[in-house]
Amino acid sequence: MKFISYIYDGKEGYGIVDENSIVPMNALLKVLGKNTPESLLDFICTYSDSLLGDLKAVLSKENIEKIPYDRVKITAPIPHPRRNIFCLGKNYREHALEIKSLPGGKTAIPDYPIYFTKVADPCIGHMDKVIIPKEYSENIDYEVELALVIGKDGRDIPMEKAEEYIFGYTIANDITARDIQKKHVQWFKGKSLDTFTPLGPYIVHKSLIDFPVELDISCSVNGEIRQKSNTKHMIFDIPYIISDLSKGLTLRAGDIILTGTPAGVGMGFDPPRFLKAGDVVECYIEKIGTLVNIVE
Ligand code: MG
Repeated sequence: MKFISYIYDGKEGYGIVDENSIVPMNALLKVLGKNTPESLLDFICTYSDSLLGDLKAVLSKENIEKIPYDRVKITAPIPHPRRNIFCLGKNYREHALEIKSLPGGKTAIPDYPIYFTKVADPCIGHMDKVIIPKEYSENIDYEVELALVIGKDGRDIPMEKAEEYIFGYTIANDITARDIQKKHVQWFKGKSLDTFTPLGPYIVHKSLIDFPVELDISCSVNGEIRQKSNTKHMIFDIPYIISDLSKGLTLRAGDIILTGTPAGVGMGFDPPRFLKAGDVVECYIEKIGTLVNIVE
């Protein structure tokens, strides 16, 4: 199941993608005699795996209400996360080597995961504009990343139980102002500017993705492939990240974790190839989809 948030007829809603249509969640839950949580984030916080079978059964009914996919404005699946987004830095070997000049760059391959967070409220959606804040930076870079959406609260999660705590997967573009990142010797500010977290186009439920997660991942700018790898090349894999991050720190349903980006970012080129107005950035992950954003 693919869970999508959207605006239709001027109203925010969310539902399930069904080929070229969207089935609104309120229509599905009405059939089941349940109230509809206000947002997809609220839905994730109250969801249990047993609901999945019920939703599938209702989806197969012929008379269920549907909205044509091309009639909605897609928003980020979670436009307003409750907390900052958790991120990993340098989690693909080749990328760690290409950004040696950045903070922490002396030891190229980290011994422990490098965690930081970014403000992403709002996250922007598929086809939304990434706006270059020209008065502060023009060294704007792309980073395609597999994003984990946590499905239930947990602390001290053992690696073998990590998958239980995942709701699903989506795509993020961890947009970064490299000069700000460098100047402040920290990753937070240069990644937290407005419009710097495209997310989506939807969340793919974990039942559709085999575990361990080994998916092709790529990013192109104006049709030219810049990043290309597979999530199996992460230095710290998903069970390790969830287990390690949750040591003494409760992860909550709806939390989003960006798992790092592969090699090929703009700053890895000589000379660097930063984003400019008019660029179209496409972030692709196998079995999830393509997140497209336009730079302005
Ligand atoms: Mg990143």
